[in-house]
This record gives sequence, structure tokens and C-alpha cells, in this order.
Amino acid sequence: LVLVAWVFLLVACTQNNSPNEVQVSRESPKIKVTTTVNMVSDLIRQIGAEHVEVVEIMGPGVDPHLYKASANDVTKLQEADAIFYVGLLLEGKMEEVLDKLKAGGKPVYAVTENIDANRLLKPDEFEGHFDPHIWFEVLLWKETIDAVVSSLGKLDPANKVDYEANGRTAKAKMDELQQWAEAKVAEIPLEKRILVTSHDAYNYFGRAYGFKVVALQGISTVSEAGLADRTKLVDFLKSQKVKAIFVETTVNPEAIKAIALDAGVTVGGELFSDAMGERGQMEGELDLGTYEGMIRHNISIIVKALR
Ligand code: ZN
Repeated sequence: LVLVAWVFLLVACTQNNSPNEVQVSRESPKIKVTTTVNMVSDLIRQIGAEHVEVVEIMGPGVDPHLYKASANDVTKLQEADAIFYVGLLLEGKMEEVLDKLKAGGKPVYAVTENIDANRLLKPDEFEGHFDPHIWFEVLLWKETIDAVVSSLGKLDPANKVDYEANGRTAKAKMDELQQWAEAKVAEIPLEKRILVTSHDAYNYFGRAYGFKVVALQGISTVSEAGLADRTKLVDFLKSQKVKAIFVETTVNPEAIKAIALDAGVTVGGELFSDAMGERGQMEGELDLGTYEGMIRHNISIIVKALR
């Protein structure tokens, strides 16, 4: 009798399970996308929406110039249907593993790959390479949208129309953000638009919004600031009567704090540089874990401190 009961139970369980299994397989599978930095995740989420599942390698506060892929990261990359990253050597220490995966047939896309080289900056300090920090020039970051739309459309042709529509919406949002940014920075007179930070992440920002940009470290955080740089920076701050300088979320703030003390200026706040905030981390109505939140936070802080 016990045996019969067991068999009955077993059959009952199997019958209960099967409708669920059918339901799961009936849903259209999401594309698994692995990203490097969270600015790229934001792009993929906006354009891929419900059709993609994003797995991110670097989160808030992580410096992409120095980041090396762990064994766990390599698994995340291998398991992805596609990989999206910034490129232009931002993820300099991950290039090798990304190149290898691409050579092995994995769809690997740099979102910057189609940007017109004439619009990119190539500062002397970066030894012949382009400056990768293009997200701080909103209209330049907007140029990455087409590459994402076309890549997702190739991976998943059934939902191409959705990716195109989402791409148009994302572009409209960036146009709106640009207008807001221009109006906001206009609150500071041109001669007061001097942005002093730890590392050279803001050259595009400076070009787009009329700021002179000075950084303690070079374009990549790989190089440490020397004593000569510090003294020069303190002299510069005093001579230009700069009111405030800024620390960054992905760079150790100590050097900037020390310089602020020496020069008698305030630390105007913490700027996002090479990573956005945590998703759902709210500052008033701003979600700091979005591209829009990052840009609005940075510009609001800069304008408030320098005005
Ligand atoms: Zn950087």
C-alpha cells in the first residue's frame, strides 16, 4: 500500500510540474548581455528593455582603467550571448580577454566603435590614444545608441522594431538632457568655469559645456600624481581664485582633499567619473544609478559649488 501511495505521489508531482515547465519554455528567452561599466548597462537596459538580461562586471565606484577580469568575470563573459563595453582602452586591462572571446566567435561590441574619430579627443598625455571618457559629452554619448540598436537587432531580429523604437526614445531623452545641461551651466560665467578634479575624465565635458579642465592625474588613473603636479595645482588654484575642486567616486579622494587644504579652497562635492551610482540610489528625484542621474548630479554639484 505504501508503495502504491509513493507511486501515486510521484505521478501527482510530475503532473503538477509539467504545466510550469511548459510555461517557462513558452516565454521568449531574453538575450543575456554582459557589460563592463554601468554606463553601458544603462544603454543596454534603455534599448533592450524587456528583451535583455544585463549582467554587469564592474559596479559603482570601480575604476575601469585598473580593473582586471577575475575568474568569475570570465565565466560571466563566456556565458553571455553578447558582450558590450565602452572601448577606446577605457577597460585597458580587460582588452586581452575581450579580444580573445571575440576571436573565438563571441559577439563582442564596443559601443564607441562607430563614432567618427574626428569627434574624439586625442590629448598629448594619452600617448597617441583617444580619450575614452565620452559619456560626459551628452551628444557624443548619444552617438553610441545606433551601434547598440543595430547590434541588438542582429542578435535578435524578431525584436528589431522594439530596439529601434527604444533607440529613438533614448535619443530624445539625451537631447532633453543636453538642453537642461546647457541651461544649467549658463548659471556660471564663462571665466568661472574651471573644473579641477583627480583624473582627466572631463575633457569632453569641458569641450561640450565651456569648462577649462585641470586634473591632478593623467587621463588614466594608472599614473600617480607627482609632487610637482600638486605644487603647480595649488599655485593655479590661488592665481585663478577657484572656489571649489572636486573628488571622484572611482578615485581615492585624499590627494584632492590635501590640495584643497593647501590652496584654501573647498571640496565642492563628489562627482561620478568612470562609474554611475547604485541603481535605485535616489538623490531627490534623481536615480543616481542611471546615466541621466549621473549627468544631472555632476552638473548640479559643479554649478552649485562654482556659482
Ligand atoms: Zn577615467
